[in-house]
Amino acid sequence: RFDGVTMAPPDPILGVSEAFKASTNEKKLNLGVGAYRTEELQPYVLTVVKKAENLMLQRGENKEYLPIEGLAAFNQATAELLFGADNPVIKEQRVATVQGLSGTGSLRLAAAFIERYFPGAKALISSPTWGNHKNIFNDAGVPWSEYRYYDPKTVGLDFEGMIADIKAAPEGSFVLLHGCAHNPTGIDPTPDQWEKIADVIQEKNHIPFFDVAYQGFASGSLDADAASVRLFAARGMELLVAQSYSKNLGLYAERIGAINVVLTSSDTAVRVKSQLKRLARPMYSNPPIHGAKIVANIVGDPTLFSEWKAEMEMMAGRIKNVRQKLFDSLCAKDKSGKDWSFILKQIGMFSFTGLNKTQTENMTNKWHVFMTKDGRISLAGLNLAKCEYLSDAIIDSYHN
Ligand code: PMP
Repeated sequence: RFDGVTMAPPDPILGVSEAFKASTNEKKLNLGVGAYRTEELQPYVLTVVKKAENLMLQRGENKEYLPIEGLAAFNQATAELLFGADNPVIKEQRVATVQGLSGTGSLRLAAAFIERYFPGAKALISSPTWGNHKNIFNDAGVPWSEYRYYDPKTVGLDFEGMIADIKAAPEGSFVLLHGCAHNPTGIDPTPDQWEKIADVIQEKNHIPFFDVAYQGFASGSLDADAASVRLFAARGMELLVAQSYSKNLGLYAERIGAINVVLTSSDTAVRVKSQLKRLARPMYSNPPIHGAKIVANIVGDPTLFSEWKAEMEMMAGRIKNVRQKLFDSLCAKDKSGKDWSFILKQIGMFSFTGLNKTQTENMTNKWHVFMTKDGRISLAGLNLAKCEYLSDAIIDSYHN
């Protein structure tokens, strides 16, 4: 009876890792998935995470179920990290926070909430965006359309197009925004541009929906990377924020994150939270405890907290060094006069190279550089030693 099931296409991002594994070429480089690697290109478990885990073992903590909304200490810590502990939205208890299955699960829960309480409302997503956003809204039954974001001419932000498209959308749409380190482009609005984006969103009674997957991992500072979200919250707007600890704490497989909904009263926050729980219960009942405890233990301990910040700066710093080296070596090797400065203007673990589909195929087929077809490379999967090789590959692919 299952004979009619057709083969699903491979995931455009995770499929790259599978192709990389299958390759036997010794020069192969995996710049597909966004996971941090050391200079030796090995996966990295933060020292502070190991310390927190040891502490948990010593305390003999149990594995009882968490409540549907997750670990209370985690939920408090995560909302405070995002908004700042002194933020009026926290003080006035206007945030409904529910622990989610990392960024993806938190986005998905919010999408289910939108579908249920705002039926027919549209999500607006950037063109391009992280590939899974479309899947998430599709599966949740939330109609979506794209707003202009990337300008191929400048390999920069199409700000006018973005504003025009947000303005043209039906009132009360949910505008999905990347809090920092836009994936896949690495192009973020300036603080001035964020203000203007907030202006049109307010003007149109839209609801901002932030995806914050890189807090502290983009610039190295938790506060700086949350500035966009805080700017919107300071305007007294209602908004949603999905958070992930995959990158900034390297907890990819622990699936730890949260969905935060900022409301105009603590009363509404209580009701919204109750409905998020109602949606979560039949989907997965309650979230996993291990990652939540790690985050709560680290943020709740001043020594561990500062150690985390130092490690995050180290990771962000390594990526910045690689970005600089790649830029330098592209400039030194490319005799065509092409302006590569866009690479330095981008932020976060990804760089958008501007390579098209055929050119990325050349990258993979000829140079064994595995990357997504949209021209995105993960700088976290690159080291200083491979920058020259990569620039040869990029230059060859561009000019052929
Ligand atoms: N949003 C964006 C923009 C991302 O880049 C990612 C990770 N690649 C996520 C959400 C979710 O990741 P996770 O589910 O591991 O938290």
